This record gives sequence, structure tokens and C-alpha cells, in this order.
Amino acid sequence: MHLMSKARIIGFAIIVSLAVQSVRAEDWKPEWTGPHPGWLTYKTNSLTFFYAPDSVLAKDGAIQMFAGKRVDAYNDIVKSLKVTDKRTVKFFVYDNNEVAQQLIHQKAGFAQSTVAIIHTRVNQTVGHELTHVLSRAINGRPPPNRVLDEGLGVWMDHNPVDHLAEGRRLLEANELPTASKMIEMLSTGDESCYPAAGAYVGYLLTKYGGDKFKQIWGAGKSSYGEQFKKAYGKSQSDMDTEWRTFLKSYASTTAVKASDPAATCDLLDPAQLQYQKLTVNRVSSGESLTNGTYRYQANDKFSKMVLYLQPMDLSKAVELRFELQCDASCGAVDTILRDHDNLVSDVIKVEKHITENKDGYQVVRIPMNAFKTRDWDMKSVKILFIGGQKPKGAGGPSFNIRAIEAGFPK
Ligand SMILES: [Zn+2]
Repeated sequence: MHLMSKARIIGFAIIVSLAVQSVRAEDWKPEWTGPHPGWLTYKTNSLTFFYAPDSVLAKDGAIQMFAGKRVDAYNDIVKSLKVTDKRTVKFFVYDNNEVAQQLIHQKAGFAQSTVAIIHTRVNQTVGHELTHVLSRAINGRPPPNRVLDEGLGVWMDHNPVDHLAEGRRLLEANELPTASKMIEMLSTGDESCYPAAGAYVGYLLTKYGGDKFKQIWGAGKSSYGEQFKKAYGKSQSDMDTEWRTFLKSYASTTAVKASDPAATCDLLDPAQLQYQKLTVNRVSSGESLTNGTYRYQANDKFSKMVLYLQPMDLSKAVELRFELQCDASCGAVDTILRDHDNLVSDVIKVEKHITENKDGYQVVRIPMNAFKTRDWDMKSVKILFIGGQKPKGAGGPSFNIRAIEAGFPK
């Protein structure tokens, strides 16, 4: 093996899904069905968002980006669950729990599924609470136990995490509870088993499909064991054994390691971050200008600009930020982080991540968890940063890039 390929690269956003819930959906009586006084509203077809005028979401393009991800997740969850939900889901979005405490006297991070309302913080997972709301359409009520409910929420949280590999990690650490133990834990409010529940539900769905899962979802509390056996042809404890055997030999398709929960944030207040400049060692098919700016000019030969960055540990980074100036549509510009040795890469459209304009440049902030990297190790990173693709036979966009930085939690 080439020596360099051992210098393993990146494995972004890794993260055990954030299990954030303080109150069960059904236990909480809604007092707010419209915006808090003075709050702004942003509507899409199926989702409505309420947020404070001084929220990070009120900045240029932020609410569009925040909403866009949730609309994508909504469509995906509805498709996966094969349900329709005619209700508009309302999101109350709080910058942090302090704001939530002031307004609703509790932490944000819960769904009121019966009224399709979600109280969320800006940095929560995209899909967890949405799954709670939309899964009620399976048969109009919550499932017989919270392992199914929370497990499904974790499984569909849209974090770039391999939840099965997380189950394997717990098994190896001797920390994987049985399904019945999880039912007991969750009934007493012990939510530490969320990741295990995600791996459990993920296993049931992956191995046995949605129809059997819907059967146990519709079971009664007292007849759950019986219904479970009827659906799967085996007892819960036999399923536990099978699940463990599966996890033991499970080879992950994505790198899954617990890391800083802050990396799950999909939009962070820049004031809460500390940015570190990324140094460019070499420029390929582009040119380096004197003031730390890199220019790409479309020509016939190259379709992209490649910036080779100096190796740096990005394992705790939560955001990639740079400034971009385009002569044409920035919609044609992609960002790719690449594991140089193993050619692992992910394409992120820049367009969705433009947050503001700054003296002729557009500030692009890409959350690290947008990069669904595979099998990368975040230490001692060497990245290729690539921007720009030229449509076939046409002159592509010319653009300048500057101020490339990684954001770390303060
Ligand atoms: Zn939940």
C-alpha cells in the first residue's frame, strides 16, 4: 500500500444522532399554533416555519436553506413510509434553548404529532421530529412502545450517519441493550438508548421491510409480544439474538464514529464558531492571485479548479466557509472535498449554501455534515477542494474563491 494512502482522510460528520427530546409529543398541550408575537413566517407547500426577526434564520438566504432541507426530508420520509399527510407541519424554530425557555418555558426539541407542530432548535437533526409527525399517518396513532417511535425517528433523522454501524459499535462496547430493555428504559424516561433503538428499527426495516414493521406499529401495548411473533415468526428475544449476530459482522458503508455533537448542526451562528484558515499548497488548473484569491477561468482544457490544501485535522470542524465571486451563475459551481489518496469525494452544490453577500463576493457556508463521506478518518486531513464544472461544449463560469476556512465550535 502506498504510504500516503495510510494517511487516512476525513470522515466528516460522524455523530451519534442527537437524541433531543424533553417531553413526549402527546403529553404537551399546544398553546401556540401561530407565530410568537413579532415572529416571521416562511411558507412552503407542506411546511410553515416561524422564527424570530433576530434569529440566525433571518439572515440572507438562511431560512430558504433551512426550509429547503426540511422539505427534502419531508418528501423523503413520506415516500419511505408510504403515507400521505394533508396537514401543514408547523415549525417553531429557536436559535437555542434559552430563547425557547423564555417563550415556551421548556427546551425546544419535540414534536406535537397530533397537531403537526414541531418546536426545534436551529441545530437539530433535519428528520427526527418530522418523522414523529409523519409516522402518525401510518395508522393514526403512536406505536405501542417508544422503541419503535424513537428508533424510527433516529433511523430517519437524515444525519449522515450509519446507524447500523453505531449499533455495532455499541455491541462491541458491550453497551447494546435488548429491545425489551429499551422498552423499559424509554418508559421510565431514560433516553440514552436512542442510538440503539435506531439500529434496531433500522435492522427490522432493512431485513424485513415496511409491511411487517407496520404490523407491529399497529399492535396494542398488551398484545405486542404476540403481534411481534405473528409478524416476524419469532419472539423478540430471538430477534435480539439475530440482530446481534447481524451487527457483529456488519461492515459499515459509511464511517461512523461518535464525535462532537456540534457537527450535526446544519446552520450555526458564526458568532459561536471560531474559524481557522485553510492553507492552499498547490493550485491545479486555476491560478493563484497575490491576495490569497484563486481564480478559475473557463477554457477548453479544464472543467474544474483544484486547490490542494495543507493537511489539517478537521475532525472537530463543523463548517467549511469560503467566499465566491462568479461572473455567471454560481449554480454551476460545486464544492468537492476529496480524499486525495482514495479518491473518495462528495459533490455539494454551492448554490444552496450561499448565506450573504460581502463586497462583491458571496459567502458560502457548508455544514460539514452535508458531506456524506465514506470511510474517511478525519485526522491529518489532506483535501482537494474543487470548484466549478463546465457544461459540455460550452464555456463554464469563471470565478474567484478566497478566504477558505474551517469553522470549529468555540
Ligand atoms: Zn424523538
